Amino acid sequence: MNVNLNQDTICAIATANGVGAIGIIRISGNEAFKIAAKIFEGKNLEEVKTHTIHYGFIKDETEVIDEVMVSVFKAPKTFTAEDSVEISFHGSPHIAKKILEVLVKNGARLAKAGEFTMRAFMNGRIDLAQAESIADLIASENEASRKVALNQLKGGITNEISILRNDLLNFTSLIELELDFGEEDVEFADRTAMNKLLLNLRHKLSALIESFQYGNALKNGVEVAIIGKPNAGKSTLLNALLKEERAIVSEIAGTTRDTIEEVIHLKGTAFRFVDTAGLRETTDIIEKIGVTKAKEKIASAKVLLYLYDEQDSTTEEVIAFVKEFHREDLKIVLVHNKVDLTNDETPNEFDATLNLELFPDYCDELLRISAKDQTGIEAVKTVLIDYVENLKDQESNVIITNQRHFDALQKSLQSVLQVEEAVSSGIHTELLAYELRNALEQLGEISGEFTNDEVLGNIFSKFCIGK
Ligand code: GDP
Repeated sequence: MNVNLNQDTICAIATANGVGAIGIIRISGNEAFKIAAKIFEGKNLEEVKTHTIHYGFIKDETEVIDEVMVSVFKAPKTFTAEDSVEISFHGSPHIAKKILEVLVKNGARLAKAGEFTMRAFMNGRIDLAQAESIADLIASENEASRKVALNQLKGGITNEISILRNDLLNFTSLIELELDFGEEDVEFADRTAMNKLLLNLRHKLSALIESFQYGNALKNGVEVAIIGKPNAGKSTLLNALLKEERAIVSEIAGTTRDTIEEVIHLKGTAFRFVDTAGLRETTDIIEKIGVTKAKEKIASAKVLLYLYDEQDSTTEEVIAFVKEFHREDLKIVLVHNKVDLTNDETPNEFDATLNLELFPDYCDELLRISAKDQTGIEAVKTVLIDYVENLKDQESNVIITNQRHFDALQKSLQSVLQVEEAVSSGIHTELLAYELRNALEQLGEISGEFTNDEVLGNIFSKFCIGK
């Protein structure tokens, strides 16, 4: 990181773009007080106590720009661990621009995206995983994503990783002791104890890695595809599912996303319906675009609701579809729609055949619904909720939600596996030490102990300005 850049005093608007009752501009750096004092009419900000708030005016030389409240935070107990000032002004973008201009005129520099958080990291106040969790918190749209991000901010993953690193370090010191006495050919590290330690490490790493699927579902939601022949009732089902959500979804759609997305929130988790525009327009994606393309389209889906209307399908058709689309990481749910039209016993012959042919290898759920009468909709929701619940690994308290952490953990696990293999094949201690260091470094990447500028740049550039 460029040292000079970090010595600049930076400023940025911290509140959202646009008009608001109040807007906040943040200043951080060695000269924060000096610069703020120069443009503030009120108490001398260089002399006031830390963590206090002051009434006054922001001025550009003699011209008053706005009536404000200014908060003063002395290092190190601040977000960036640097001297910081926050100016609360009347929330007009024009006033914000004027205040920023005066700050720059007096020696501050406009902050880059994520620069405040990057300083908090560079100054050792938070680690990299915590910095990332701040971005996640800002982006959180539901209870599940908020909770996992907050847990990460509170150091959840960091603690877990440091326990693993300690185990690894203990192991490494044993090995290095052996290296020191290599000539005498002694084995200090008891191989049985070593194997136990490695097994434990592998176990913990695997649990963390496995938690990613669940974490990802909580953080980004679960993609659901609704597929079926034309007129099977796909749009009707989607509407029934969206019934209570629609108002909320479209209300926030314009502000948070470019496209209106069909999302339902169940028990705090978001379920996103993929390609619902296509579902409306073309009704049958398989007929229109062919099996391969259809598969591509639902590649990111985790749950597929296959809707059929008994009077318009054959069991062969349904079976062929399910077998064709079956995928290890895709839960296929058979949804027998329009049961109001047949009104027969459950399960009827049609469903019994499907059950016989497909359960449990290809799917394990068959629901009978009437999308039109809205019967059985709750059961569809329950299947979705259960899907997420089942991803939960009871063994791991900490849930991985971040792709970067997931990658680092996987690499670390690879190294641990190598070490295990090396131990069992009695390989030279020096090579063992090498693999151990690899595993340690991979874990260190998560907290940011071992990392490079490119990775950092990549992480912080995703933040918004002012954070
Ligand atoms: P899509 O082409 O799969 O999206 O099917 P639609 O949702 O547009 O439904 C096709 C037709 O089936 C419409 O006339 C719906 O009203 C009707 N439909 C959908 N679900 C049901 C149901 O559960 N029972 C009955 N009787 N009709 C339904």
